[in-house]
Parts: sequence; structure tokens; C-alpha cells
Amino acid sequence: MRPGYLVLDGVAKRYGPITAVQGVSIEVARGEFLGLLGPSGCGKTTTLQMIAGFETPSEGRIVLDGQDLADTPPARRGIGLVFQSYALFPHMTAAENVAFGLEMRRVPRAERARRVAEALDLVHLSHLADRFPRNMSGGQQQRVALARALVIEPQLLLLDEPLSNLDAKLREEMQVELRELQRRVGVTTILVTHDQQEAMALCDRVAVMQAGRVMQVDEPWRAYEVPADGFVADFLGRSNRLPARAANGMAEAAGRRFALPPELAGARGEVMLTIRPERLRIEPEDAGALPGRVHSRVFLGASWLYRVDTALGPMMVTAQNTGAPPVEEGARVSLAWDPHSLRQLEAA
Ligand code: ATP
Repeated sequence: MRPGYLVLDGVAKRYGPITAVQGVSIEVARGEFLGLLGPSGCGKTTTLQMIAGFETPSEGRIVLDGQDLADTPPARRGIGLVFQSYALFPHMTAAENVAFGLEMRRVPRAERARRVAEALDLVHLSHLADRFPRNMSGGQQQRVALARALVIEPQLLLLDEPLSNLDAKLREEMQVELRELQRRVGVTTILVTHDQQEAMALCDRVAVMQAGRVMQVDEPWRAYEVPADGFVADFLGRSNRLPARAANGMAEAAGRRFALPPELAGARGEVMLTIRPERLRIEPEDAGALPGRVHSRVFLGASWLYRVDTALGPMMVTAQNTGAPPVEEGARVSLAWDPHSLRQLEAA
């Protein structure tokens, strides 16, 4: 994908003494699905609002398809918006809700009817065209909101926590639908979410934000595998810390020595290593690199999540449920891992 369709260049937003967003620079390719991901208050919504034109940046530029948006009012930006609250007009049917944006743009009646029918078809709601929002489920209402955003053939689709009002199972279904829909339509899309699973499932790349700044922009798997720092590592999933001393391609911790991966061969002195729970294996007491005791375990269906207490502190371990009985709580075990699974976190 070629970046540069939507460019945020050094964007900042201040409200009096509060800095909501600072130094945000991101390039989004045409057709890309980008997630703005981060905890509450990190500046995701403010960033989206500046792209939409509802907020003005205190600093920096936003450029869409080569055009600086500074002087373009929201209605002229060609942007489709979907919010967490579906914000449908309650007194209008699904079809009327979808048609609204076309009426505002004075699209002739025949073309309007055709495009509304197409948009409803796109979200699999043709059969509910004449229904009012109050007689539709949350998922159906959210699909109407999507159709309403897409019918204007936007240059950009902006989604602010669009699925968070739906229950877990429906949310998962809608994630798959939304991803397919975005691919089919090919519209450049920015999704705001605090849900790392949702961002990873939907997005081509994620921009992980903390305290108004972008910490890392990467494909989800890469941000998960090679997080820029401890915050990104923890926000995208569980991660264990192994404080160690490194020298000559080896690390030493809690009186045990273990190999470092080739890319960390040059590491020296005190290092903070990290490893994901699914990369640790529980082995018999003397077989692994790090002895420990199973403190507790949680059954997750497809896997078990163990907490194993070690000389380096508690380690979380996920083990696939193979159907065999789990390791008992209190059992003396050791932990093993492949050196390639170790990452080094930069000192904060
Ligand atoms: P959430 O997930 O809770 O919506 P967010 O990541 O979208 O959070 P923002 O809504 O962008 O975060 O807010 C970022 C920061 O800016 C917060 O500290 C917030 O309190 C502050 N903020 C946002 N809007 C305003 C405003 N109009 N006036 C003052 N401060 C604001």
C-alpha cells in the first residue's frame, strides 16, 4: 500500500492548559483500514474529530488526497461518520435515514432510490428498508448507520467505537462483516477503539496512542510481536517481564543462564526482557530454564491461563487445551521458552 492519501503532520490539540493530542504524524494509504487504539483519554476521539473537522488543530496539518483541510468545513470533507450511539433519526425509516445525506446533497430522486437500495443491500438490510429504528436490534441499527455513512461514497470513513454497544457475540459477527464490507467498498477507514482485540481483528495497521502521543504505528501482528515499548506490549496483550543481566549472547536471571536471540546478541548489562504468555511452556521441575510453582489457573475453553510464581516474580502462561487434565495448582514446575520469543524493552 502506498501511504499518503490522508496525512496527519505534527498535529496537536490543546484545550487551555490541557494537551489532548501532541505531535501526531501518521500517513494513511488509500483504501487502508487504520485503527487509533489506546486507553480512555489518550486522545483518539480528539484526533478523529480533527480529521472530521469538528475540532481545529492547535498545531500541524491534515491533508486529504493532496489537499490541506484547514479551510474545508466538515460538510465539505466527504467524510462518512459512524458513532457508538447510532444517532439515527427516530422518526425516519431505515431507507429514509440512509437517503438523508443524499437529499442534503440534492441527488435526484431516481438516483437516490437506486443508491439507497444499494447501500441497504451492502449491509444486508434490504428487507428492513421500511422499518423504524425503534423496531430494530442494536446490530441492525448500526448497519443502518453504516449504510448511511457509505451511501454518500465518502473519501474517508470514520468510525468511533462503532461496535461497543453490541453484545460480545454480535460484536464479533459485526467485526467480520465490517472488515469484509470495508474491503469490498475499498473506502479508506479510520477506526477509534480502546479494544485491542477489535483493532487487531479489523485493521491493516494500528496507531497505538498514550497520553496524546502515537507510540507505534504498525501492522497489528508486528506491534504485538515487536512492541515499541512496555506500554504497547501491555496494551496489546499480556506480557511477562524478565529482568536480567546480559553478556556475550547470554542472559542471567535468578541464578540461571539462558540464550538470547541473535538480534539481542550485542545486549550488555542490565536488560528488561519480555515474553508473551503463549510462548512460555510449563515443563517438569528440572527440565526448563526457570523453576516455579503453579499459583493458580483459569480455564478459558480453548486454553488454560496459569500464573506461575518464580524467582523473577509471577509469570503468566497460556497453554492450549489439548483435552488432557491441566497442571495442578501448587505443582512444582519449570518454565521453558525458545530464545527467539524473547524481546528487549527499551529502558523507560
Ligand atoms: P475515550 O476513549 O474515553 O473517548 P479518548 O482517547 O477518545 O478517550 P479524548 O476524548 O480524545 O480521549 O480526550 C483526550 C484528552 O483531552 C482527555 O484528557 C480529555 O479529558 C481532554 N479533552 C477532550 N476534549 C476536551 C475539551 N473539549 N476540553 C478540555 N479537555 C478535553
